[in-house]
Amino acid sequence: GAGIRLEKLSKSYGRVRALDGVDLDVPAGELVTLVGPSGSGKSTILRLIAGLDRPDGGRVLVGGQDVGELPPHRRSVAMVFQDYALYPHLSVLENLLFGMRVRKVPRAEARRRAHDAAARLGISDLLERHPDQMSGGQRQRVALARAVVREPSVYLLDEPLASLDAQLRITTRADLLALHRQLGTTTVHVTHDQAEAMTLGDRVVVVHEGRVRQEGPPQEVYDE
Ligand code: ADP
Ligand code: ADP
Repeated sequence: GAGIRLEKLSKSYGRVRALDGVDLDVPAGELVTLVGPSGSGKSTILRLIAGLDRPDGGRVLVGGQDVGELPPHRRSVAMVFQDYALYPHLSVLENLLFGMRVRKVPRAEARRRAHDAAARLGISDLLERHPDQMSGGQRQRVALARAVVREPSVYLLDEPLASLDAQLRITTRADLLALHRQLGTTTVHVTHDQAEAMTLGDRVVVVHEGRVRQEGPPQEVYDE
C-alpha cells in the first residue's frame, strides 16, 4: 500500500484561497475521513491528491512520489463521487471494463477484475443493466466497483453516500467499511455526516477555511 503525505499545500482559485498550508499524513492502509463546512477545501484536497489540479505551493506525495511529477496513467488513485459519474449509455459490465480498456489491461484480466469487483459489491446480478435501470444505491455500488477494478493504491471518496436515503446510507456505510477491511487500501473519505465519520474513520481530520484545524480519533474530535 501507499501512504499519502501533504506538505504545506496551498491553492487559490482567482482571489479565493481554497487551501492555506495543509499538512497531513495518511499512513498506508488507513481510512481517514475529512469533515468540515461546505467551502472549507475538502474537495480541493482530493483533487490535488488525484493530480486533477496543481497546488500553487507545497506538494503531494503518494507512496513517496510527487504526484505532480507522475504522468496521469502512473497515478494509482481512484475517485468516487456523490453523483456516481457512470457512463449512461453503457451497461454495468461495460462501465467496469471501460477504464481498463483505455489502460490496455488484457481482456481476460479485465473481465476477471470486473467480475471480482462486482461480487465484492454485491452487483453480480446487475451487469447487463444500464445506469437508468438501477437505484441510487446500486449505482453507487457500480461506481465503487469501477474504482475497485483499477486496483488503486489510494481511494478518494467525495461524499459517496450523500445522495442515498438515510436507511441506505447506513447499510452502504457498513459495506464500505467491510470493503476497506478486505482491501486494506489507503482511503480518504470526505463526508458531512458525523455518524459516518464516527463509524468509518480510523481518524477524523477537520478542515476549516483551507487549513487542518484538528485531527484525531473520532471519539476525541467529537467529544467537545
Ligand atoms: P469543500 O469541498 O469543503 O466544500 P472546496 O474544496 O470545494 O470545498 O472549495 C474550497 C473553496 O474554493 C471554496 O471557496 C470554493 O468556492 C472554491 N473553489 C473550489 N473550486 C473552485 C473552482 N474550480 N473555481 C473557483 N473557486 C473554486
Ligand atoms: P478512469 O478509469 O480513469 O476513471 P474513465 O475513462 O472511466 O477513466 O473515466 C474518467 C473519469 O471521467 C472518471 O473518473 C469519471 O469521474 C468521469 N466520468 C466517467 N463517466 C462519466 C460520465 N458519464 N459523465 C461524466 N463524467 C464521467
